[in-house]
Amino acid sequence: MSLHFPTLNLFVLTLLLAASVVFAVIRLQYPKRPGIGFWLIGCLALASGYLVRWWHSESDPSENYWLAGVLYLSGNLAIWVGLMRFLGHRPRWSANGTLLLFAAVWLVVAWFSYPQQVAASLLLSAAACGLSYQVVKAAAAPIPNFTRQFVAAIFLVSAIVLAARGLAMFGGFPFAHLPVEQQSALGSIPSTALIMLRCFALLVLLHAIQEWRLQELAELDPLTGLLNRKGFWDKTHRKLDRLAPTGRATVMMSDLDHFKQINDQHGHACGDLVLKAFAKQLKSMMRPDDVVCRIGGEEFAVLLCDLDDRQAAHVAERIRQHWQQTRLQHEGKEIHATVSIGISPSAQPPLQLEALLKQADQALYQAKAQGRNRVAMALAQASAA
Ligand code: GH3
Ligand code: MG
Ligand code: MG
Repeated sequence: MSLHFPTLNLFVLTLLLAASVVFAVIRLQYPKRPGIGFWLIGCLALASGYLVRWWHSESDPSENYWLAGVLYLSGNLAIWVGLMRFLGHRPRWSANGTLLLFAAVWLVVAWFSYPQQVAASLLLSAAACGLSYQVVKAAAAPIPNFTRQFVAAIFLVSAIVLAARGLAMFGGFPFAHLPVEQQSALGSIPSTALIMLRCFALLVLLHAIQEWRLQELAELDPLTGLLNRKGFWDKTHRKLDRLAPTGRATVMMSDLDHFKQINDQHGHACGDLVLKAFAKQLKSMMRPDDVVCRIGGEEFAVLLCDLDDRQAAHVAERIRQHWQQTRLQHEGKEIHATVSIGISPSAQPPLQLEALLKQADQALYQAKAQGRNRVAMALAQASAA
């Protein structure tokens, strides 16, 4: 079997350019998703590497042309940095600095015509191992387990192949009896396959995250940006499962007072403005761990964890007072509204969301019946329900 090295390079170059176009389009589509720009840069650097190699392959059939090596290594590292950012790691100069440092080290190594393929293979293998680990461990990234394992496996296979390739070269290239052009062609087959696999893995990851984003949108209230009823339901159930068996939880239900009058007197747009302002204030006064939602109309529910009755009542009272003092402007008029709040007694396991919501609702009803603009707590014995 005879492989034509320049043709192989041209083939990979075409594939990488196509992948670059795909990543450029994805970058335009999702400008806020971090890391995709790095993938694009990585693909372009790899493509340039193959272009340089192709350009030189007629005059120098060896695979070890230094400039191609630098571009190849930089491209892989850019993809690595991109994936780290994609998985939710904060941009750090150290990561970008590492990229430049590796590229510089590579350049020096290649310059003195050391067997750079060995060093490059081992470095890339270590990077692929790290990526595989990150994909499995990145808890913040909303990736389904199957996708996570699949992508991690691709990077692990990359790491093994790259390490094997590097180590094989230490002990002498296994195809040493073949002409140098054939050796280069055979040597570049694994990297070609791995590049394609990794591009595929990135697309699979992106798809998983977009899917999650769609699901997330289905659980958000478009007016206030808070969770909607469905989102609240899903998130609190997960949270309560985690809290069991030791944690405690409280539900706080808030309902704006005489909200219909605001709509009637100032118009629906003003009502929307009031809802948004209350949602913003409520969210800002809660801890990041609390689950805040617009459960419907002008009603808002919050799941508070690990607070006792006195603390929960204090939180609710602060919200009520703050809102009472808030003044909003709409078409030159000052808008003022109040809120009534009902809280369920702090419950211990077994924690049942339905029971907590029912108690908070009953307390809210009391607060309304007692004259509104106040906080009420349901009777503690009801928590046994
Ligand atoms: P109470 O003090 O007893 O809670 O009286 P209320 O007027 O706040 O309660 P009621 O249930 O009578 O009215 C709620 C109003 O909320 C009626 C509905 O038109 C309005 N509403 C529900 N969703 C929205 C919304 O998204 N935007 C606006 N502007 N109004 C809404
Ligand atoms: Mg209501
Ligand atoms: Mg109301």
